[in-house]
Amino acid sequence: MAAKKHKFKTETQKLLDLVIHSLYSHPDIFLREIISNASDACDRLRLQMLSDKSLKNEKSDFKIKIIRDEKSNTLTISDNGLGMNEEELLNNLGTIARSGTKNFLESLKQKKDNPEQIELIGQFGVGFYSSFMVSSRVIVETRKAGEEESFRWESDGSGSFTIDKIDKKTRGTDIIIHLKDEFKKYLEDYEIKSIVKKYSDYIEYPVLMDVEKYIPKKDDEKEPKKEIEEETLNSQKAIWTRSPKEVKEDEYKEFYKQLTHDYTDHYAKIHYRVEGVTEYTALLFIPAKAPFDLMFAAEKFKGIHLYVKRIFIMDDAEALMPRYLRFVKGVLDSSDLPLNVSREILQQDKLLAKIKTNLVKKVLDTLAQKKEKDKDKYLDFFKELGGILKEGLASDFENQKKIMELLLFESTSTKPGEYVSLDEYVKNMPSDQKEIYYITGESRAEVENSPHLEAFNKKKFEVLYLTDSIDELISQHMNEYEGKKIKSVLKGDLDLSSTEEEKESNKKALSEKQDSFKGLLELIQKKLDENVKEVRLSNRLVSSPACLVTDEFGMSSSMERLMKSMNQNVPKTKRIFELNPDHSIIKLLNELYVKDRKKTDDYIVLLYNQALIAEGGKLDNPDKFSGIFSNVMEENIKTLIK
Ligand code: ADP
Repeated sequence: MAAKKHKFKTETQKLLDLVIHSLYSHPDIFLREIISNASDACDRLRLQMLSDKSLKNEKSDFKIKIIRDEKSNTLTISDNGLGMNEEELLNNLGTIARSGTKNFLESLKQKKDNPEQIELIGQFGVGFYSSFMVSSRVIVETRKAGEEESFRWESDGSGSFTIDKIDKKTRGTDIIIHLKDEFKKYLEDYEIKSIVKKYSDYIEYPVLMDVEKYIPKKDDEKEPKKEIEEETLNSQKAIWTRSPKEVKEDEYKEFYKQLTHDYTDHYAKIHYRVEGVTEYTALLFIPAKAPFDLMFAAEKFKGIHLYVKRIFIMDDAEALMPRYLRFVKGVLDSSDLPLNVSREILQQDKLLAKIKTNLVKKVLDTLAQKKEKDKDKYLDFFKELGGILKEGLASDFENQKKIMELLLFESTSTKPGEYVSLDEYVKNMPSDQKEIYYITGESRAEVENSPHLEAFNKKKFEVLYLTDSIDELISQHMNEYEGKKIKSVLKGDLDLSSTEEEKESNKKALSEKQDSFKGLLELIQKKLDENVKEVRLSNRLVSSPACLVTDEFGMSSSMERLMKSMNQNVPKTKRIFELNPDHSIIKLLNELYVKDRKKTDDYIVLLYNQALIAEGGKLDNPDKFSGIFSNVMEENIKTLIK
């Protein structure tokens, strides 16, 4: 039978080109990837053998062998794992089955020439395709366990591949790599041994290789004899089964990189064993950088690899980590779960729920310790992943306090790039400040000159800047900390008085002023009725004439913008228009009102629009505003040159 020729799917070819051209500085990883695939294939067969009766005669002597041929310049990685049938071969090595590839390639395009590109590709798990970095041709010979037919896949990585029927006697897969001349070093003992030791030491199955050994010559022999001996190159000891005391920091680092494809070292590590009624071992890592798969929130997240008695079960057990900690990676090995455990059982399993609670606690406690120990380093982590962590405020009510302790914010008291925690905020509160305040918005630049902050600045009350895109959503779940209410400066009827007397006298003064402004307030209400639900005087402002606020339970303007940006239908929320009775513009406007109320119309429009501009909002009717603004300017200039 002639070999069938197939074209790579466009995105596969793109990925292939990218891998070859971006990862050239890390050629070693091809071996790690191929060995990791071989080990996965053994894992999968071992698991299937537990439930599939037709596989009962298969032997479980799993192993991976590296075979070198200096004559043909080939390196073969042979496994006796599950293997692939024709369809699988076509799908697995011709397309990229993984969802999100398109998104992934898009994100790379935007980041052209970005040094982070390599990290991204690495995290994506280039897998099999990395073999093309070092080879001119790759051949895959494979036979699926329990099946008769076997196949050869072959490609030079430039556009197409062929699939052919062959007669392979044993189950499993051989990856035959024709090394390019400049990569002949991968035939050398030392080179292979050190790569396997570095990247694949913990692989559970033996990674074997024939090595030449010299036997010391005996007296009657002229030359020492050479003998070929099969050597196991890896220690096969799953790192998590060892005592934390025994494992070196470098070993953790390598294991983390192998597990996650991350190029950067992890930020924190948690390794512990629980014995007693429930028994399990956990080895968790908190990354320093946001992993690539976090960028596509809709996608399933892979975090914790679940093992049962050292047998790999699945790597996307969502039942083990809540969504808001989806950046945590690692291994959970339990002795109490059945081997044939399914996803559905996992979701309901009481024992697992307990384990999960414990894992979450460990992660949050570890982060708290790290923050305590080195705030600058923690800040780096927080900038990368704090946005995800915050999601927990809306979903994990039990740990809300702990999550809050981990938050950091810029504020009216910090320089750009400096952050405070809620604890520090509370510690710094002046004695007459009773509540915690924050302002939401899109950026520090947008909020820091907001008129809403004036009264707070005057009293030297610190206000937190909540300017992360998720802050608006989570702020609704931040109600109090250390017994102190947490309030938005954009909402409600704020009163910063420290004593009841002060509060009363402020109220009284305001209501007295209210009488003299009554007519003007009513007129403004009438003119702006479509947009505002109330016009009132307030103590909130110092140097600005007016601002817009939301009532205590209403939707703030930045929330409204956020919802709109997510294509949500949001009803228009009418807000409260607050005027500063001590501001000269408001006083003058009131005088004008008394003198000739008809002349106030334009100024009311300007006043309202100016309040919208000050909070970074969009004008309802920019044409009208700029028309009036131009007229006023003209008038003003005329009086100046008179
Ligand atoms: P990944 O391993 O990240 O899924 P790869 O490109 O390395 O991506 O491999 C694609 C698929 O090809 C694997 O998911 C697996 O189904 C199949 N595959 C690769 N190597 C082997 C192997 N040695 N034995 C069986 N299947 C394999």
